[in-house]
Amino acid sequence: MNWKFSTVVELLDRAREAGLSLPAYLLARESFYSGKGEDELRAELARRIRVTKTALDRGIREPQRSFSSMTDGGAAKLAHGEAWPVEDELFRRALAYSLSINEVNACGGKVIAFPTAGSCGVAPGLLWAYRDARDPSLGPDSPRFQDAFVVASAVGMLIALRATLAGSAGGCQAECGAAAAMAAAGLAFLLGEEPEGCFDAAALSLKNCLGLACDPVAGLVEVPCAKRNAFMAANALTAVCLRRAGISSVIPFDEVVGAMKAIGDAMPAAIRESAEGGLAATPTGMSFRAKIQ
Ligand code: SF4
Repeated sequence: MNWKFSTVVELLDRAREAGLSLPAYLLARESFYSGKGEDELRAELARRIRVTKTALDRGIREPQRSFSSMTDGGAAKLAHGEAWPVEDELFRRALAYSLSINEVNACGGKVIAFPTAGSCGVAPGLLWAYRDARDPSLGPDSPRFQDAFVVASAVGMLIALRATLAGSAGGCQAECGAAAAMAAAGLAFLLGEEPEGCFDAAALSLKNCLGLACDPVAGLVEVPCAKRNAFMAANALTAVCLRRAGISSVIPFDEVVGAMKAIGDAMPAAIRESAEGGLAATPTGMSFRAKIQ
């Protein structure tokens, strides 16, 4: 079987040639390279998905407060606050869960980089929100839920192959932007989209994040990172809503990734994780830096 691809077009061709669904092909490929059987891979997937749930629950249950004071229990406020303006359980949970996982990261808790620590809340937060708000039959041991994470991972893999997942190389479009594209693909999968539809949702989501600066205040992965995880869950959810309404991305996923790479290469170093530009260079940002040094 041919396991090599670097674009969505090639990936979908390989899966078709193999006569396998997209998640089945990706798992078979992982099995080939890792030497692990499907049962072992699925057990590991379930374990990692549980880690995301433990983080999510922790941030909702116990307000997370970091030593810098920039992280201050936002997810608990989102989940439990009464002044909530939008009547939609999926939306509220998506914001609260995504923020929660990232606040746990900001406070040194255990998370799964998905694709990075700074963007770890977006995809798991949105997928768990869908599970809790819409489909309780899903869970870490459910193959369909696992497959949604596999499809999301394929989006991250393709971005890594042709661009980057590092804020230091491509700005936050490469971290939170990639995470939102992964989340959109995973949710589209759960809603029954074919692989083409999943990658179209990913393209819609990623397009809206192009050019995003990486400017972490005081060099800590807190501001703008944590709240951006909630914003990116909304971005991904919007992409899936567009896709489900029959609205497609004019620019296909592979070309969006190419544009992302070109934009990242053109970004000045000050907004590529150096903490020297953007929000990090504001008076308030500088005062936080002085406080923690
Ligand atoms: S702003 Fe930079 S450090 Fe923060 S999540 Fe984005 S890429 Fe990561």
